[in-house]
Amino acid sequence: MAEQVTAYKNFIAGEWRESEGGLFEVTSPANGELLYRAQRSTVDDMRAAIAAAREVFEMTEWRDDPNARTVALSKFSDAVRERHQDLATRLTRESGKPIAISRGEALRLAETTSYFAGLARWIFGRSQIPQPNSLSLIIREPVGVVGIIVPWNAPLALLARAIAPALAAGNAVVVKPASYTAGSTMELGKIFESIAEFPRGIVNLVTGPGDPVGAELARHDDVDMIAFTGDTSTGREIMRLASGNLKKISLELGGKSPTIVFADANFDRAIRGAINAASFYNAGQICIAGTRVLVEEGVHGQFVERVKEIVPKMKVGPGWEKGVEVGPVISEAQLAKVTGYIEQGKKEARLVVGGHRLTDGELAKGYFLAPTVFDETPPDARIAQEEIFGPVMGITPFRDLDEAIRIANNTKYGLVAAAWTRDINKAMKIATRVRAGSIWINTFGKMFQSTEMGGFKQSGLGRQYGLEGLFEYTELKHVNIQIEK
Ligand code: NAD
Repeated sequence: MAEQVTAYKNFIAGEWRESEGGLFEVTSPANGELLYRAQRSTVDDMRAAIAAAREVFEMTEWRDDPNARTVALSKFSDAVRERHQDLATRLTRESGKPIAISRGEALRLAETTSYFAGLARWIFGRSQIPQPNSLSLIIREPVGVVGIIVPWNAPLALLARAIAPALAAGNAVVVKPASYTAGSTMELGKIFESIAEFPRGIVNLVTGPGDPVGAELARHDDVDMIAFTGDTSTGREIMRLASGNLKKISLELGGKSPTIVFADANFDRAIRGAINAASFYNAGQICIAGTRVLVEEGVHGQFVERVKEIVPKMKVGPGWEKGVEVGPVISEAQLAKVTGYIEQGKKEARLVVGGHRLTDGELAKGYFLAPTVFDETPPDARIAQEEIFGPVMGITPFRDLDEAIRIANNTKYGLVAAAWTRDINKAMKIATRVRAGSIWINTFGKMFQSTEMGGFKQSGLGRQYGLEGLFEYTELKHVNIQIEK
């Protein structure tokens, strides 16, 4: 039985290739079942993929043909939409996450490629006459070979916002998928292969360990840009590796985002927003998780009581089961890490919900944690400062607007923030004084293909989505023409 599982090969230069490094196994975090194998690639495999990408970038008209790029990406988008149920099923098997989240992710991949397919024909520069008889053209060109490294927590959606603009702008790409979710990414190789408008080698997919395979992509002199999504400490290492040839970098890193609930807010909506959209979505394994819930003193007691009613009723289980809201965490290592933070939280704050692993019946086979809530969390506590990446919420009461802003900004991160209030002045102060790349007022998690997102401070560099998210993948060139008199 074990021998019948799929063994994904690398997709290099339009061919499916085996590595000399052998295979690694991917098992379900929900029940331990062996799902598939993939190549434990070597540095040589990565070098072959980079060489293929360089050759096709230099030798084909891809970089100069926006019409072909629009057609190719549109076809890809249509094919993903057609296959989205299958992709979602695979994603839920390998990550354990609720099927509705996986379906949304697969559709987001389709929508993001469709959006950037349109923008491929809208890459404009400027022209000007800077002095008499002199014409300047400011044009945008593709960067060249772009390396893309993605994490496991939302592998399709996070790949989409890098690969779609990179290809739309005319680059060649080499992708290093996250190992836990390599299968759903490698399935995309079959779709790329089936679309004749993509030159062979314009997209390369190479699986294997972050170090040395991802590290080689970040380091290699023939890679012009690296787009990395993942942990802040890995991002720092990517920056170091990329400094060898001063490649362009785009970093989308961690977060420890505040959700601020004022006493004047629509209480029911604020509760729902804080609980569902933040700490427990995707079992808290989401960079934008609003895990620091700051609640104004006047409604703090009431807020905690409602949280204690709602959170224990959330259904935890494998994402393919009906009604499941919270899946497992991705791995045994992640389980140990989150459990460590929960134990730390018991010393630093007041545990009000959860705080333990779930092992009843079938749950014993997976990495399930009870959704956990701490109250009276000191702003300087470790659980309030470090990214937990598990289903853990920390509530902290605050006195007034100034204190809320101070606590909100008391972090090395700056990815997103949310506030619930009916007072436009408070909303505007939060929007202008909280240092984060996205601010949501009376809502949470709204991300559109046409609106930029990205991190302040140690949450990243550069922006994803929108026009700026496309221009990240271009170089500006100035051409000056002297006009003879
Ligand atoms: P990770 O940093 O451990 O791994 C991310 C990717 O980098 C994986 O593919 C991994 O194999 C690769 N990698 C690891 N070490 C490497 C190295 N030395 N050189 C090159 N590549 C290397 O992160 P993770 O655990 O997969 O993902 C969770 C993290 O991602 C969290 O911190 C989360 O906040 C962050 N994240 C951020 C965003 C965002 O938009 N800001 C989105 C999702 C996830």
